[in-house]
Amino acid sequence: MSKTLPVQKNDYIEVEFEDLTHDGAGVAKVEGYPIFVQGALPGEKARVKVIKVNKGYAVGRLVELLGRSPFRVDIPTEEQHKYGGCQLQHLSYEGQLKFKENQVRQVLTRIGKLADVTIHPVLGMEHPWKYRNKAQVPVGEKEGKLISGFFKPRSHEIVDTNESLIQLPEVNEAIQVVKEICSELGISAYNEENHKGDLRHIMARYGKQSEELMVVIITRTTELPGKKKLLEEVVSRLPKVKSIIHNVNSKRTNVIMGEKTKVIWGNEVIYDYIGDVKFAISAMSFYQVNPDQTKVLYDKALEYAELSGTENVIDAYCGIGTISLFLARKAKKVYGVEVVSQAIEDAKRNAALNDIENVEFAVGKAEEVIPNWYKQGVKADVLVVDPPRKGCDEALLNTITEMKPQKVVYVSCNPATLARDLRILEDGGYKTLEVQPVDMFPQTTHVECVAKLILN
Ligand code: SAH
Repeated sequence: MSKTLPVQKNDYIEVEFEDLTHDGAGVAKVEGYPIFVQGALPGEKARVKVIKVNKGYAVGRLVELLGRSPFRVDIPTEEQHKYGGCQLQHLSYEGQLKFKENQVRQVLTRIGKLADVTIHPVLGMEHPWKYRNKAQVPVGEKEGKLISGFFKPRSHEIVDTNESLIQLPEVNEAIQVVKEICSELGISAYNEENHKGDLRHIMARYGKQSEELMVVIITRTTELPGKKKLLEEVVSRLPKVKSIIHNVNSKRTNVIMGEKTKVIWGNEVIYDYIGDVKFAISAMSFYQVNPDQTKVLYDKALEYAELSGTENVIDAYCGIGTISLFLARKAKKVYGVEVVSQAIEDAKRNAALNDIENVEFAVGKAEEVIPNWYKQGVKADVLVVDPPRKGCDEALLNTITEMKPQKVVYVSCNPATLARDLRILEDGGYKTLEVQPVDMFPQTTHVECVAKLILN
């Protein structure tokens, strides 16, 4: 098969890049046949080694740059380990925002067949570094010491990293200190090959406004080795810690958290603020990772909802009730629905914490709960959805087009599923007026969007 392709595995070739894929690889073409190379930018020429060939495309490794894009930024070799997970590290921030805007435009046109929607320039950050309030890192062992960091791309080898440039310094410090303490106490790292050892992951989450820290220690075994000493050390070396959680994951799996979660020191939750709304966040609940840009995103969702105080609102995929509570102050009533029960407990606690009474929360799948509400006569004037990457379930989209709320505000972390779902809503009688991308994840290829739809 590969004989008919214009390049062979292990060939060295010179190519010119013309585009970027959605995951940030440079795209060059040889006789129309695409080659994807991580680290190359449009407009650049490079010498490339072909490392994989498929029927439809090849993958190459950058050997030498022969021409530079004006949007390229240099990263010193000794700093490179600080950029784990930053697929766009070599692209200037201006270039990143343009890349994200183009990506949104392309998928809305190609997948969504939406021709005349206004797509605004991406709202970026003034300082696009040190923004993540959470990290969960795998733990391994090297030369008798614990190491942690990120997996090398396409492998399970851990790159030992003490600092990530996109995480808040408090998060880096927490991970580093817990790793040191566990190392000192002789706690073994989990080994996924033989399913032995204890410590699997360390997670840290930090409330940027509240300055409260949560540490989650994830082990294979039910007992946490050296627990008493470990707690003493964590509390004394990390003065901002307010909650230490032990999670047990005894399965052979890539999923980070297991089913058993126990508070082993301090509170069950930490608190944080978005704007002036206070939130309790527990270990298993989803909470946006970029607090500054979350405010920008929610303000946009609020603006698109155009509330006057008389509306019934449904917030589907509500998590700990963040958007629900943001909207409740401007609405008559908000109904939130979310599948993780701990998140709904947090949501109820958050309503009480902020003296917000016009909200009601339910545990369940949005695609099951909302059709039930509809049958019981609950009608929404505005419906907000904020689904995970796979987008909305079709049953939910069908209920929306039957229920016919005047407005739909769609918050999305995946432009491709957003485009797919907008098409279904358009075919069901809605018109997408505008889409605002927000850069919640600088240096990475991810982009968040808010879309405003009205009933035609
Ligand atoms: N709006 C929230 C959470 C968004 S993340 C915020 O901004 O913080 C998406 C949420 O959808 C997660 O909390 C996840 O647990 C939840 N979820 C996933 N599938 C779901 C489903 N089928 N029905 C309801 N909630 C779901």
